[in-house]
Amino acid sequence: MRDALLVVHGVPDDATPHGDFESAAIDALGSERARTASVFLLDPRGSGDAETALRDIRGHRSPAIYLKPVVLLADGVGRGGALERAVDGVWDILKNPEAPPGLASKVERLRQRADAMAMTAPEGDTQLAFRILRFMATREAVYEPEPTIESPSGYRYPPLDPFVGGDVDRPDVGELLASLESDHRVLEGQFAARAYACTHCGCGFLNFVEVCPDCGSANLVEDETVHHYRCGYVAPLREFRRGNSLMCPKCEKELQHIGVDYDKPSPIYDCNECRLRFPEPEVTTACYRCRRITPPESQVQRTIKSYVVSPFGFNAARYGLDSLFVSVLQKRMQLFEYGVFKQFLAAEANRVERYPPATSTLVVMYFDQIEQIYLELGSRSRELFEEIAVELSSIVRESDLLSSRNESLFLALFAQTSIEQVRPAVDRLRATVDNLLRVALKTPPSFTVAVHPVGDDLDVDTVVAELVAKGGSPIGSRS
Ligand SMILES: [Zn+2]
Ligand SMILES: [Zn+2]
Ligand SMILES: [Zn+2]
Repeated sequence: MRDALLVVHGVPDDATPHGDFESAAIDALGSERARTASVFLLDPRGSGDAETALRDIRGHRSPAIYLKPVVLLADGVGRGGALERAVDGVWDILKNPEAPPGLASKVERLRQRADAMAMTAPEGDTQLAFRILRFMATREAVYEPEPTIESPSGYRYPPLDPFVGGDVDRPDVGELLASLESDHRVLEGQFAARAYACTHCGCGFLNFVEVCPDCGSANLVEDETVHHYRCGYVAPLREFRRGNSLMCPKCEKELQHIGVDYDKPSPIYDCNECRLRFPEPEVTTACYRCRRITPPESQVQRTIKSYVVSPFGFNAARYGLDSLFVSVLQKRMQLFEYGVFKQFLAAEANRVERYPPATSTLVVMYFDQIEQIYLELGSRSRELFEEIAVELSSIVRESDLLSSRNESLFLALFAQTSIEQVRPAVDRLRATVDNLLRVALKTPPSFTVAVHPVGDDLDVDTVVAELVAKGGSPIGSRS
């Protein structure tokens, strides 16, 4: 196994051998030797900083580099630091001159999974979210959040931290994971904690302060109140103190037994700035990062989650976040970017309003739970997507525009065509696609289609939201 190991030094130009290991400098990660190594070793006592080296490895664009197993050489003193939790393994080389047996098999499993994903664009994987997804998909792990003061959000995921670098303004991994779960459904999240975050900047470090309701000062004195039964006088405890005993400042009698002579109702506050006396202060929160002051109820309450890759996510890790279906469709016809499509649509609405009886039709198509295709068919998903793509392309003419907002939602603009002219083709499409799905799958996704005339009162985002909300139920059309 030794020749498959490569020590990575944290400084440029340093390729001094490390004992009997070969080594490479951190700026040689693009080399053939680095690409073909099975494992990268980091030596915390070596030249340069092991954290920096790990960040450079995970920050690399090539999956052959950033997916590589990284093992930390320990020196007999377990530090238990974040670095140990961020790497794929720790090897105490003083105690075990040979690599521990579990390590070799783990590394081999990782290498096979990484190889399955290594096909990539020549420029590498440019999208951070995609690199993180691929990394997670090659490691069968649950990614647990860990409270930390080193990340502005207050939480980190140690193995994923090296992907975002070390500075304070780095992207927040937690938010990125949340979007991979909610927008792409490639992760499954489990509740781990609730936390407040600043509504302005997302920082998790908030100072909860009690302030004067009148002047807003935090310079307050809190005291217990004493209520003297006999004369009814109520004042802060400190006004009753005489040495070790309590005397009523109003009637000059001594107070001896709580519950008999006096009681202590709720506490009382005095503002040292404006001298106001009040029973209950207001609470505000001050952000440690942007320093803005906000009432707690206006701050964001976030759910911090642990994550695993969803079955859908393993496919996305292999084929790309932009989805297999979209790439299959794109081979057959031009898909316009959603923003561009909306501009065309607005222009068409204008034209239609201006030159009656011009008429155009918008068709929105939605697959509810399209991941079911990946779940049931795995690598055979492509064939079904090809068949659906054939049907879709059969109704769209050269002059029509097609767009997708994600791989579940497609929009087509049929120019110079009325609803009545479009409807037979749409009905046929719906029936054919529905049939394809039903034949291929035990739990087929539902395929719904909405048809709308293009005009001033058409708001495409509302149409899409309605269609997605209705999900599986059959959709009628607005006429
Ligand atoms: Zn005040
Ligand atoms: Zn009294
Ligand atoms: Zn803030």
